[in-house]
Amino acid sequence: MSTPSLLILPGDGIGPEVMAEVVRIIDWFGEKRGLKFDVTTALVGGAAYDKHGVPLSDETMAKAQEVDAVLLGAVGGPKYDVLDFSVKPERGLLRLRKEMDLFANLRPAQCFDALADFSSLKKDVVAGLDIMIVRELTSGIYFGEPRGIITEGNERVGINTQRYTESEIRRAAIAAFELAMKRNKKLCSMEKANVMESGILWRDVVTEVSADYPEVELSHMYADNGAMQLVRAPKQFDVIVTDNLFGDVLSDCAAMLTGSLGMLPSASLGAPMANGRPKAMYEPVHGSAPDIAGQGKANPIACILSFAMALRYSFDEGAEATRLEQSIENVLADGVRTADLLADEGVTPVSTSGMGDAILAALDASL
Ligand code: NAD
Repeated sequence: MSTPSLLILPGDGIGPEVMAEVVRIIDWFGEKRGLKFDVTTALVGGAAYDKHGVPLSDETMAKAQEVDAVLLGAVGGPKYDVLDFSVKPERGLLRLRKEMDLFANLRPAQCFDALADFSSLKKDVVAGLDIMIVRELTSGIYFGEPRGIITEGNERVGINTQRYTESEIRRAAIAAFELAMKRNKKLCSMEKANVMESGILWRDVVTEVSADYPEVELSHMYADNGAMQLVRAPKQFDVIVTDNLFGDVLSDCAAMLTGSLGMLPSASLGAPMANGRPKAMYEPVHGSAPDIAGQGKANPIACILSFAMALRYSFDEGAEATRLEQSIENVLADGVRTADLLADEGVTPVSTSGMGDAILAALDASL
């Protein structure tokens, strides 16, 4: 196979700062593990607007369609708040998601033992937690028609429509089963089949797809019960698949089981390309953090973990992804902390690049 290709879009605010550490990690894998990537870097968000007058140029969009995976930092910042909606930094991100047709959003909730005290839940409930929520991202109630606010008689009525086709459910389900096959072969599908027809169809189609994955243990749960179970006993889950609306809520809830925004990666996957790899974009959950940008305070771990997801889900390098995650675990266990992870006064935080240095040293030690 040819050298895998990556498009790196650092973006705005802390985006370029955290991405600089990811680039050092990518170089490490090239030098020490023979895992070379063909890397292109381009602008997105406010940075692209400053140069090209648009938050994503056509050339960069075309490149994103062509590469094996896109790695994005973050976009946005107060400087751009005054811009017209059509050229706001976030439009660049939305264009990427839409034109690449990234219909499956993967949000892991992974609790590093050293940070278990950060969770609002008891340590033993979250220590060692490692679950993944697959949220359908391009359909459902956020897109369904009719929608709007109309007037009926003498009052206004707000309308949104939950609408799913079988094929939209099927492709999200396939993405989730494929993921389950790469993990612990356990999948829980969440909907409200008790009160919603779209939920009945969701359950039917997921069950149909399960016939192609006999090794995966499938269960179904109503999404409201799912929310309770996520905070009661989250370790009962491995992969969860759900629709756009429930996924929005459940993935935020699950992510926060583990503590800090600076630790949360994500992936958005689309249909398989000719080489069998899914269209994919990997990015931290956090934004451009203008309050700390330019100060060397940002935690690069969310962005580095996003690259670990790329290794596992785009490049079938699960063992190397584990090496990277384990190195991060070791660094945290040694007490190395960026400012956002500091619980105790008196502990000196490391800078963004200091965290990068520590992770690179742990990677070296893993050899
Ligand atoms: P944010 O995620 O940028 O920041 C929220 C808080 O978390 C801030 O106090 C910030 O300092 C902190 N934080 C975030 N990431 C951190 C990290 N890696 N290390 C340490 N601390 C971190 O959210 P916000 O303040 O609501 O938004 C700021 C800008 O980012 C806005 O322009 C918003 O539109 C944009 N945004 C972009 C994305 C994206 O690019 N995917 C996502 C959310 C927000």
